[in-house]
Amino acid sequence: MKFQTQGLIIKEQNIGEQDKLVFALTKSNGIIKAFVRGAKNLKNQKCASTSLLSYSRFTIYKGRDSYIIGDAQTIRIFSKLRSDMRKMCLAQYFCELALTICPREQKSDAFLSLILNSLYLLGEEKRSPELIKACFEMRLASMAGYMPDLRMCRGCGEYSAEKMYFLPRLGVLECGSCHTNNAEISVELNPSTLTALRHTVYADDDRLFSFSLSSEGLAVLNEASESYLKYRFEKDFKTLRFYKMIN
Ligand SMILES: [Zn+2]
Repeated sequence: MKFQTQGLIIKEQNIGEQDKLVFALTKSNGIIKAFVRGAKNLKNQKCASTSLLSYSRFTIYKGRDSYIIGDAQTIRIFSKLRSDMRKMCLAQYFCELALTICPREQKSDAFLSLILNSLYLLGEEKRSPELIKACFEMRLASMAGYMPDLRMCRGCGEYSAEKMYFLPRLGVLECGSCHTNNAEISVELNPSTLTALRHTVYADDDRLFSFSLSSEGLAVLNEASESYLKYRFEKDFKTLRFYKMIN
């Protein structure tokens, strides 16, 4: 069976002298693993359009248990990310998250839009990397069915207090009074970091990246989002460790 779709390459592996194996987040089929023949020949058009972080239009053949990319036309290559080591590392973390969390064998337009928007904003410096990162993490997890409950304190129903606590392992909030006898790992939130964390989960898609927060606030927001993903997916993301190391 042959079909056409658009997708972003989120992982590539060389196999043999000429071929490679790629993982792409596609619009029509979610994450697919596909072979690309002759992709290491630099004269081959498929070389660039199937390399990491290329967003391309693919013609794909589906075999019994594998996919083969027959043709690939580049739509966007995010060149501004590639020339900046820090941004490139963050982009690779986004790819690792997508590979871990995004669905397979189902339509994934929304997931693809989220990562493309995040990469675009990162490359063009339209938002700070830390703001983009926290939004991407929380929204991706929420879309994949891991939405935390940030409506109110889980003990008494308090909506907002001077101090609230986010419990990343459980994905819930507690107010200062309910939190006292609790050994659970937590991130302390003030009213502005609480508003921002709620925004990353509940804001409309087209408003997701539209807020601002101090750099101290962004550090807290990132602590909350990183630990939420770590506990939800029980994974220590290698690319995140690397990003933090070079930062
Ligand atoms: Zn409470």
